[in-house]
Amino acid sequence: KNIIETHEISKRYVMGSEVIEALKSVTINVKKGEYVAFMGPSGSGKSTLMNIVGCLDTPTSGSYILNGQDVSNMSENALAEVRNKEIGFVFQTFNLLPRQTSLENVALPLIYAGYSKADRTEKAMQALKNVGLDHRASHRPNELSGGQRQRVAVARALVNDPSILLADEPTGNLDTKTSYEIMDLFDQIHSKGNTVIMVTHEEDIAEYAHRIVRLRDGLVETDRVNANIRKAR
Ligand code: ADP
Ligand code: ADP
Repeated sequence: KNIIETHEISKRYVMGSEVIEALKSVTINVKKGEYVAFMGPSGSGKSTLMNIVGCLDTPTSGSYILNGQDVSNMSENALAEVRNKEIGFVFQTFNLLPRQTSLENVALPLIYAGYSKADRTEKAMQALKNVGLDHRASHRPNELSGGQRQRVAVARALVNDPSILLADEPTGNLDTKTSYEIMDLFDQIHSKGNTVIMVTHEEDIAEYAHRIVRLRDGLVETDRVNANIRKAR
C-alpha cells in the first residue's frame, strides 16, 4: 500500500520577473513501512519536495495523494489538519520549546489532538521511554545534550502515531557518534513498522535508509534500493 504518491508534481516560485522551477515533474511512490532518504545537492529541490510531502505547501501542478487522500489542492486549514494527523516532523535544530520540560514538549501535539491531561502525560511518558529518555522527563532542553534533544524531538514527532516520520537533516547539528546513535534510533523506529523519510545531504547518513532518491535540478535523477544498508551497531 502506498502511503505517498506524487504524480508529476511541479513547484514554481515567482520572484519579480523571475520564475524558478524548484520541482519540474516529480513522481515518487512510497509504500507503508519504507525507509527512504531524499538526497541531492543544494538547490536541487529537497526542501521544496519535503515541504509538499509534509503538507507544509502544495504543488503548482500535479497531484499528491497522502494515505489515500488527495491533498494537492487543499486549503491551508485542511492541510494543517492532515499534517497534524499524518506527519511527525524532526528538524536539524530540534525545535523544542526552551521553557518546557521534555515531557511537556512531547505532550504538545496531544493538546491539539484533544487528549485529557492524564492521557497526555501517559502517552508522552511512553514516547519518551521508547526513545530511552524517560529519566529526563522533567529536564528542559538546555539541560540535555544534542543527542538527547533530538531524541525528545523524535518522541514528540511519534507521540501521535503519525503515518510518516519526516526528518529534515536530523543529524545536521550532531557530532558523528551522536549522529550514528540517532540513526540507530531510526532503525528501531523503522523496524517497528513506521514509514521513515529523511532529507539529508550526507552520504553516510543516507546509507542507513533502504532506498535512496536523488534529486538534481528539480528532477528525480535516480531512485534506487540501497544495496549497502549501513547498520548503527
Ligand atoms: P534544496 O533543499 O535541495 O537546497 P530547495 O527546494 O530549497 O532546494 O530549492 C530549490 C530551488 O528553488 C532553488 O533554486 C531555490 O533558490 C528555489 N526556492 C526555494 N524556495 C523558494 C522560495 N520560497 N522562493 C523562491 N525560490 C525558492
Ligand atoms: P544520548 O545519546 O543518550 O542522547 P549523549 O551521548 O549525547 O546522550 O550525551 C552524553 C552524556 O552527556 C550523557 O550522559 C548526558 O547525560 C550528558 N549531558 C547532559 N547534559 C549535557 C549537555 N548540556 N551537554 C553535553 N552533554 C550533556
